Amino acid sequence: MARPWLRVVGYWMLVGPFVLTRWLTQAFVYLGGSWILATRDSLPCPGCGTEVDIHGWYRCDYCGSTFLGSAFAPCPTPGCGRTPMYVPCPRCSHAVWNPTAMGRARW
Ligand SMILES: [Zn+2]
Ligand SMILES: [Zn+2]
Repeated sequence: MARPWLRVVGYWMLVGPFVLTRWLTQAFVYLGGSWILATRDSLPCPGCGTEVDIHGWYRCDYCGSTFLGSAFAPCPTPGCGRTPMYVPCPRCSHAVWNPTAMGRARW
């Protein structure tokens, strides 16, 4: 009577749709965020509504290097390559979130 594969199939029939939905949601958010980044030069600040430029000089929070580029591009320093989750608004310091951050939640 031992049919372990039945348990596996049953498990994925129960859990599969949720996992799939999560994958699709994250992929969708990530693609949407990438599209926003590719088509826009600025993002509205959630605090004061200012259009915050997302191209210019940025300092990487992880390795401390300064580089010229997009605020949400991976750090070009060899061995780093981290992508910032937000940049502070120059006017009110409110965090302007990386639109792809939701799609890259750690798990
Ligand atoms: Zn602001
Ligand atoms: Zn870095």
